[in-house]
Amino acid sequence: MASHAATDREPEEGPYFDEIDEKQSSIIEEAYLRRPLSEIFVRNCCEQKMRRDGSGNGGYRCSQIRQHRCWNKASSEQQMTHDTIGGAIIQTIRSLGKGLDRLLQRVSELLEDHGRRQARQSPPTRKELEDRIEQIIEQVRTMDRTCRQELELLVGQIQAVPYQQFGTNQVVLRVRFQLRLMALLPFQTRAALAARCDGPIEEQFESIPMLVDLFYRSAGPKHGLEALRLKEEEHLGPTAIGRRLGITKRQANIAVQYGKAMRAAGVTDLYVELTETPAAASRWRPPGYRKAQQNKESP
Ligand SMILES: [Zn+2]
Repeated sequence: MASHAATDREPEEGPYFDEIDEKQSSIIEEAYLRRPLSEIFVRNCCEQKMRRDGSGNGGYRCSQIRQHRCWNKASSEQQMTHDTIGGAIIQTIRSLGKGLDRLLQRVSELLEDHGRRQARQSPPTRKELEDRIEQIIEQVRTMDRTCRQELELLVGQIQAVPYQQFGTNQVVLRVRFQLRLMALLPFQTRAALAARCDGPIEEQFESIPMLVDLFYRSAGPKHGLEALRLKEEEHLGPTAIGRRLGITKRQANIAVQYGKAMRAAGVTDLYVELTETPAAASRWRPPGYRKAQQNKESP
């Protein structure tokens, strides 16, 4: 009988889920959840990695949250984070224009020595550089694990920084990073430069500082100052302002009010970087806080 035969044999050795310890399970989780940003995306609140949280559309948040070691609960939705960061990188690379000429010029300078070309490697042609850039853009567009190496080369690290929105308790995330133009060079060029330069070669080239919003701005914050300008300088009514800014009449009214509040407060940037728990925000109590309070209060 089949069932009898089965009991004759020792069960095959294998990992049982209840035997997997915490360390193993975190390794397994890393492997499954590994995403292009998993090693290069850090939080400036704790200088720790961002961690994917939840399944499906899960967001990124500070990895210290789970251990109750961080106050910063702001998160960003995963797909939006990937699209926004990837999009900003691609857009910037595409609009470099004269920056590419300067890049090639700088390569020539570094590879040449007193007018005598000593390195065996010659600078890439404009066409070679453009082909390489197209490759990078294709990779970054996928934003899957295959682009991790390119991303790392391009940005080093990406910092997620919490900001508090003017006039609200709302905390949002922005990312900050340097886009290193060195990364656009073909591999052979980078190798030749590494052999000739002291220190990291990205320091020999321009980097572009990037600050990217990981949130959607509503009409007020987005259009406040411009709506106010249209009202005061061009004497437009809410309907006309809405038409000009591509928002509804109601949104235009809100935007004007927002603009007035901003001007009264002397605010030009709507977002203020947060380095500690915002005082006014009750929702910023650390996870577990409420439970701890209840336990304290109960006899
Ligand atoms: Zn943190």
